[in-house]
Amino acid sequence: MASSDEEADTMPESVSTYHFANDKDEPISFSLLPIRWRESKNLDDEKKNHMIFLKGSVDNGLRTIYKQVIAWKFDLSNKTPQISVLTKEKCWMELGKPRKSYEIIIRTVLITVHCLHFARWNPEASGKSVWDYLSKTFSLYEHRPSQNDLVDHLDLIGEAVQKENSLAKCKFLLNFLEEKPRKKMSDEDFKATTMSAFIVDDVEDDNFEDLEEDESNDEDELFDSVCAFCDNGGNILCCEGSCLRSFHATAESGEESACESLGFTNREVEVMQSFFCKNCKFKQHQCFACGKLGSSDKFSGAEVFRCANATCGHFYHPHCAATLLHREDKVAAEELQKKIVAGESFACPIHKCCICKLVEDKKKSDLQFAVCRRCPTSYHKKCLPKEIVFENEADDDTIARAWQNLLPNRILIYCLHWNSSKRSHKVS
Ligand SMILES: [Zn+2]
Ligand SMILES: [Zn+2]
Ligand SMILES: [Zn+2]
Ligand SMILES: [Zn+2]
Ligand SMILES: [Zn+2]
Ligand SMILES: [Zn+2]
Repeated sequence: MASSDEEADTMPESVSTYHFANDKDEPISFSLLPIRWRESKNLDDEKKNHMIFLKGSVDNGLRTIYKQVIAWKFDLSNKTPQISVLTKEKCWMELGKPRKSYEIIIRTVLITVHCLHFARWNPEASGKSVWDYLSKTFSLYEHRPSQNDLVDHLDLIGEAVQKENSLAKCKFLLNFLEEKPRKKMSDEDFKATTMSAFIVDDVEDDNFEDLEEDESNDEDELFDSVCAFCDNGGNILCCEGSCLRSFHATAESGEESACESLGFTNREVEVMQSFFCKNCKFKQHQCFACGKLGSSDKFSGAEVFRCANATCGHFYHPHCAATLLHREDKVAAEELQKKIVAGESFACPIHKCCICKLVEDKKKSDLQFAVCRRCPTSYHKKCLPKEIVFENEADDDTIARAWQNLLPNRILIYCLHWNSSKRSHKVS
């Protein structure tokens, strides 16, 4: 699929720490762009595109670029699969490593392209070896690759098998297309069962489909929309590590809430390639339950482990998470604790309402979640205790504990475990 005739020498060739966003600056997958196959050289068919922009660093991180892109392609002929996007100026740019927090958005398409690549080079490969390979390649992902990832791109796989001769004899792909698999569970089923499903699952269970998230719904909350210091919104800088937190970078940006901020100057923020908070840099994170700091380094004796929910940046001690998830069942708690220590995924308590024990539904106002900023406590809007007063209803005798409009489709609260509320100012 080379089209070197379109490349200009002055353009950087490879981009890293990248993400794609639409014209509203919401993260979006590049796979929504039209794909370019080997034979189609015609550039005029891209008129009704989504507006998609690429942002990332080039020249070994020396420069940041921001460009509109109009097509994408992949090349399976090398040792590793290569994915490129075509800028509006008709230059192909190869994608290196994405920005960490953006990985979840392109997870399924990356897994699909790697699967095609593996199948091309191992046309006889069995399903097991394909999944072994994908699990190894994506071992850093919170959820193991599964059939659901490929199902999202059935059309792409079908087209690839037709257009790329090298794929036409790959047994795994042909079987997969013939089976026309569907997602293992519908989103609704998934939401209703997910938490209990993976808490009681066998350790040996190889199929992690149950864990898959409905990624499309999560895009808007990939990055925390309020500052981790002061819980106010505004102009914030996102950590690219695993904590998913955001911060006021400059004293100026956090002025409204008198935020201590990260203390950067505007100039420093401007030239910054990527930001990792100190916790993520040193792999030391606070347990969201007990508040103590612990190592989160999976390669050298981790003490705290991150919740498996892709949009949740909370870490927990295995004991703290297990105790909260099985308050009344000591045996189950101990078992879960062992599993977490052994590296098994878990979803932390904030993903279920503490009153009715059901999950949230962002599309229904009543079933949206009110999430405590300070401890693992969530309520449905309809399950919120009366004592948790909304900001606009608070008077001299009551403290405001709940804020709308700070988090997308969620309510920010300080639950009743806390005597005071830090937020005393209004946020528009
Ligand atoms: Zn702040
Ligand atoms: Zn961080
Ligand atoms: Zn703890
Ligand atoms: Zn969580
Ligand atoms: Zn509830
Ligand atoms: Zn709380």
